[in-house]
Amino acid sequence: MLSVGDYTLKTLDVQDFSLDGGSVFGVFPRALWEKLIPPDHLNRIRLSMRILLVRGKGRNILVDAAMGTAWNEKARKIYDLSEWRLDEELQRAGLERNDITDVIFTHLHFDHMAGAFEEKKGRLVSVFPGARFYVQEKNYLTAVNPNLKEKSSYVFPFIEALEKSGSMELVDGFVELLPGFGLVPLGDGHTAGHQLVKINGNGETLVHGGDLIPSSAHLAVTRGLAFDIAPLDVIRDKVLLLDDILEKKWLLYFAHDPFIEAATVRKDEKHVVVDRAFRV
Ligand SMILES: [Zn+2]
Repeated sequence: MLSVGDYTLKTLDVQDFSLDGGSVFGVFPRALWEKLIPPDHLNRIRLSMRILLVRGKGRNILVDAAMGTAWNEKARKIYDLSEWRLDEELQRAGLERNDITDVIFTHLHFDHMAGAFEEKKGRLVSVFPGARFYVQEKNYLTAVNPNLKEKSSYVFPFIEALEKSGSMELVDGFVELLPGFGLVPLGDGHTAGHQLVKINGNGETLVHGGDLIPSSAHLAVTRGLAFDIAPLDVIRDKVLLLDDILEKKWLLYFAHDPFIEAATVRKDEKHVVVDRAFRV
């Protein structure tokens, strides 16, 4: 657990999955990335899908929601999807599903939002009945009408469930959801309308890296995901964000890193690297 300003933060270690190592590192060669995260015999690397729980101002907020349970055997096998540890993890934090007041989606790719829905009597319904779901309107519009490259990342039944939940809140640009709790839009690099979450107070700041900096292995600015729709925009946003993080000594949260939850960073001769790792 970690305190930032008026908020306490805690990782919910709910689920893991595997993705092709090449898709996680784009043009960065395997000979180099396999030293950072070793692949399995199918060239896949194991990644976390952490949810960040933020408590304060009477609210229990989640950032992203992993993949959840509503997946068929084929998908479970492709992603080597782990069990879903949501209830245990909430319990460790002294909470139940009904206590969650808000869920922030950094974007609507399935590994960030599908876990907010589960199948009941053949329908996908909200896992968090008391929660509002926040997403950038631009991202939602892309999710309902995806380009061919991203079509398999925006899984329609979950997007439809979000819309039908009656709990969706579309936001446009920067929003201070609560004092010291901001939704920060990015350029359309990883996807259109991707947003990060920034929490600050008492001189401290933590930024959730979303899929802009999904792991510590992606701190190097040119090391992007093959999923990114506009790599140059990712590089620009990453340079800008890392400048702030370095200069202002912010803490950075990694949702997909298999080993490190959060870290302060520093610059070595070539890249930005982890300075101190933290458990959250
Ligand atoms: Zn994504």
